[in-house]
Amino acid sequence: MKKVLIVEDEQSILTLLKYNLEKEGYQVSTATDGREGYEIALSQPYDMILLDLMLPGMDGMDICRELRREKIDCPIIMLTAKDSEIDKIVGLEIGADDYITKPFSPREVVARMKAILRRVEKATSNQTEQESNEQIIIGDIVISPSLYTVSVKNVQQEVTPKEFELLLYLARHKGRILNREQLLQAVWDFDFTGETRIVDVHISHLREKIEENPKNPVYLKTARGFGYKLEEPK
Ligand code: CA
Repeated sequence: MKKVLIVEDEQSILTLLKYNLEKEGYQVSTATDGREGYEIALSQPYDMILLDLMLPGMDGMDICRELRREKIDCPIIMLTAKDSEIDKIVGLEIGADDYITKPFSPREVVARMKAILRRVEKATSNQTEQESNEQIIIGDIVISPSLYTVSVKNVQQEVTPKEFELLLYLARHKGRILNREQLLQAVWDFDFTGETRIVDVHISHLREKIEENPKNPVYLKTARGFGYKLEEPK
């Protein structure tokens, strides 16, 4: 389900948009204050952000600019009240993907959103094609992100999707100690607070698949008290 964040201080517009987007199958989060909207936008990835220009706390342009500075590249549509504001948005190059002037119909918003999402998906799939030959090699382990395969000494291993994602994340951060909360958030991505044992369980399963001696791992090391890291064998 695609996630959308709407930051809009006019309750009637917010309600109307939320209702219509949910009807279209989007999962909608909302904020009526600029600062709060900014924090929410940073807190988790969204597929789309609808951003009102004039907001209490922090205005839409500052939010957009700050999000881009934080390398949040999710599509942003600005909602503007006046035609004169369009010049500002276009002229200042704040990094928004589109703008819609009020009053607008929810249908128009949905159509614009879909057009942008299609564009993004196309760009992403082109990128994926280019990356399809990418392999991560660590010692005798070869990970192929696009094929979802892991082999050790040329023997393909049976891994579950979560085990694979965990291994890939560790491999992309090779040599770095990652704590359980980081791994939990990166791989399971929803709030599993206090359930960090699930990480340990997956680590031990992975060790059985990639280590010659799982009790004395040379790749997947435990950093006692901190977490885990994947490294080249010594
Ligand atoms: Ca407003």
